[in-house]
Amino acid sequence: MHHHKIRNSYMPSLHRIVYICKFKMSKLHNKIVTEKNTVKVMIAMYCNKHHGTNGYELCMKCKELSSYSLQRLDTCTFGENKPPCKTCQVHCYRTSYRKLIVEIMKYSGPRMIIKHPLLAIAHFIRSRRKIKI
Ligand SMILES: [Zn+2]
Repeated sequence: MHHHKIRNSYMPSLHRIVYICKFKMSKLHNKIVTEKNTVKVMIAMYCNKHHGTNGYELCMKCKELSSYSLQRLDTCTFGENKPPCKTCQVHCYRTSYRKLIVEIMKYSGPRMIIKHPLLAIAHFIRSRRKIKI
């Protein structure tokens, strides 16, 4: 670091910005981890709006759905090669949960672009990807 010229230390350097972006993108590389984060964010947004919660703590129903969804992702047969849930041939969700998560994604999907642009972009790219088994 000593070869860097001293400048306003409050200004983030370009190097630092690139570093942060790379770090964030590398985290997005792990599909299961990213999908878990995405589903958590989506449920929280929905619960916040529809069930009067603060956006961090979930209501009982959504907490149940959240842990169910995370557990589904943990046990996904495809692992890192998983197709988007929307186009998956294996129907691993219980019907009642499936209905709710579809509704949540419809609501939170488009709204995520503002609050979580990186997750939203990753989700969008993946949801368009063709299934490869
Ligand atoms: Zn809720």
